[in-house]
Amino acid sequence: MSDLFPLPEIDEINAPFWDGLKDGKLLFQKCNSCGHHWLPARQECPSCLESDYEWKFASGKGIMTSWVVYHTAFIPAFKDRLPYNVAIIKLDEGPQLASNIVGEVDQSNFKIDHPVELTIEDEHGVKVPRFKLV
Ligand SMILES: [Zn+2]
Repeated sequence: MSDLFPLPEIDEINAPFWDGLKDGKLLFQKCNSCGHHWLPARQECPSCLESDYEWKFASGKGIMTSWVVYHTAFIPAFKDRLPYNVAIIKLDEGPQLASNIVGEVDQSNFKIDHPVELTIEDEHGVKVPRFKLV
């Protein structure tokens, strides 16, 4: 297995999401047919399946709804980060994304619905959305 760090595959559908992060903004998609908001990027609204959407700026505020703390590096590139967390973040605008809680945190003390705030970090040259507890 490779020690290469897994990086996002950027395509024409999700490029606005990654370009937004380069500019310091988190974006999500809004359906112009039914008004649904979603992430991750896809071509059709997951609610009504229409493909008429626009990109909107997220406030960067949300809550953590679920998480796991890894004590085993199933991907070798993560072995020097153990133990690390992967958290599901629900943005105030509704979309959810998988991310990490960063900063000085006691991972054994995470709580459902704890408020979080966006922080954009550089990961091997790619700007990625991560979150801090507030
Ligand atoms: Zn829709």
